[in-house]
Amino acid sequence: MPGRQSVDAVIVGAGFSGLYQLYRLRELGLSTRVFEAGDGVGGTWYWNRYPGARCDITSLAYSYSFSPELEQEWEWTEKYPTQTEVLRYLNHVAQRFDLLRDISLGARVVSALWDDTTARWTVTTDAGEQVDAQFVIMATGVLSAFKLPEVPGLDRYRGRTHHTARWGTDEVRFDGLRVAVIGTGSSGIQCIPLIAEQAADLTVFQRTANFSTPAGNRPLDPAQVAEMKGSYRAYREAQRTSWYGVPAEPPTELALSVPGRERLATYEAGWAKGEIVGLISCYADILIDPAANESAAEFARSKIRAVVTDPELAEALSPRTFPIGTKRLCLDTGYYETFNQPHVHLVDLRETPLVEFTPVGLRTTDREFEFDAIVFATGFDAMTGALNAINVRGRDGVSLAEEWAAGPRTYLGIAIAGFPNLFTVTGPLSPSVLSNMIVSIEQHVEWISDCVAHVRSAGSAAIEATPEAEAGWVQHVAEVGSVTLFPRADSWYMGANVPGKARVFLPYIGGVGTYRQICDEIAADNYRGFTLRAAGEPAHT
Ligand code: NAP
Repeated sequence: MPGRQSVDAVIVGAGFSGLYQLYRLRELGLSTRVFEAGDGVGGTWYWNRYPGARCDITSLAYSYSFSPELEQEWEWTEKYPTQTEVLRYLNHVAQRFDLLRDISLGARVVSALWDDTTARWTVTTDAGEQVDAQFVIMATGVLSAFKLPEVPGLDRYRGRTHHTARWGTDEVRFDGLRVAVIGTGSSGIQCIPLIAEQAADLTVFQRTANFSTPAGNRPLDPAQVAEMKGSYRAYREAQRTSWYGVPAEPPTELALSVPGRERLATYEAGWAKGEIVGLISCYADILIDPAANESAAEFARSKIRAVVTDPELAEALSPRTFPIGTKRLCLDTGYYETFNQPHVHLVDLRETPLVEFTPVGLRTTDREFEFDAIVFATGFDAMTGALNAINVRGRDGVSLAEEWAAGPRTYLGIAIAGFPNLFTVTGPLSPSVLSNMIVSIEQHVEWISDCVAHVRSAGSAAIEATPEAEAGWVQHVAEVGSVTLFPRADSWYMGANVPGKARVFLPYIGGVGTYRQICDEIAADNYRGFTLRAAGEPAHT
């Protein structure tokens, strides 16, 4: 077994969060090791290589702001960047800032154990390497623990299988094959049109129809890029104070307070933007008032009916079981059009659920199907899955996964009572997945870095959230969420896509600007809700 290294900090993950966290800790002079399970940096953008994988935030907004030089030198080429373009960007960042020398690739962290006597963590990888560190920062990503359908028999299936979140680096072709895609979330909706171009026959297994807006993707206009590069500082500031990390005038009108014709025109304009929030940000009450929500939902359904020529199929593709916007909205390129092709079929799993996989395909309650390849676009154990997959034990050997069995409890989505010197970047109960992730990641990384500097300059061994502060935050997040329609959906935001997972609204919906203000006030108030202590000192005095 390799020898044990001692460092100031361990970062788990080398995606957008881990790379920037390493950069900031180096600036503070901390010795840092990064462990990354993938064989390359990039996190989500390393793993999700499926055809059509593309960001749903515009490229000029979905990028780091910490380096004006990086902003100026990098050239984005399309409105929405492809997975390959974002991954190229992250590799450039890793090289440009000389980050790779502190990153161990192909190294999955399996445990992180806190020793209260030494006030240090011991982090162990799947290769048995152990490192001890004063701080551990979980940059493990919010959508990284992928899931398969909870249906028996997959090990018996003899054809090819692919999961969108583990696509691999070899080119995958479906020419002439009979292909199944299971899942119609963002990943399924992006890959289905491209798989349909190759497959001889494609069957899409849909459990819940989703709302999707045409992305209107296009090459970036050089004049638009030049304008952004000339005004990036002001734009970044506007991002930081915005609601979801993309500057936009918040709507003030209520949907049903305007005449029907005017409302439709407004929805048309919102739809035409080709943005995930284009439609739902038309009015102030769409995510709050069921009737307002239904007016937007019906508009979106009318768009499906306008594209899909078979009315029965159009209806089957029309979401009816949750308010629009309460499951992550999708952006697509030719998704609904794909179903007009004769070799593309839809199976509604609500009518005929999946029963099992067979050696040649799968069986629903209605019939058997044979496939040469099955693509799983079945999503993730979101926000908590990657953290719970690591054996994290805090004071008194308490297990994080067990502590969170009834739902995650954090202070600000950054810190956890009973787990000193452990930080989570865009963790549960922070704005995270309800925002432009890069804006939220930068804010967390900068806040965590300032907090680490504070601990060290105070000569303290450890910082820890108090149970009272954590309880207050958990309650606040739930209260803000309960005002919205989000709890009505069986979404991954609610943990509802994973059998047995606690039903808790996982992100904070107060807005990134408001949230930043709260975090800054807490830091300015001498890290209100945290305790500092020397090694060996009891946790709460
Ligand atoms: P997802 O949104 O959770 O979708 C998974 C799909 O698989 C759903 O349709 C789900 O049905 C279905 N499914 C899950 N388990 C099943 C089972 N046992 N049997 C049948 N169907 C099953 O996952 P995703 O599409 O990978 O997207 C996850 C998130 O990643 C997105 O919401 C988005 O935030 C992010 N993402 C973003 C982009 C982008 O930037 N454009 C692209 C991909 C992903 P139910 O709905 O009934 O659970």
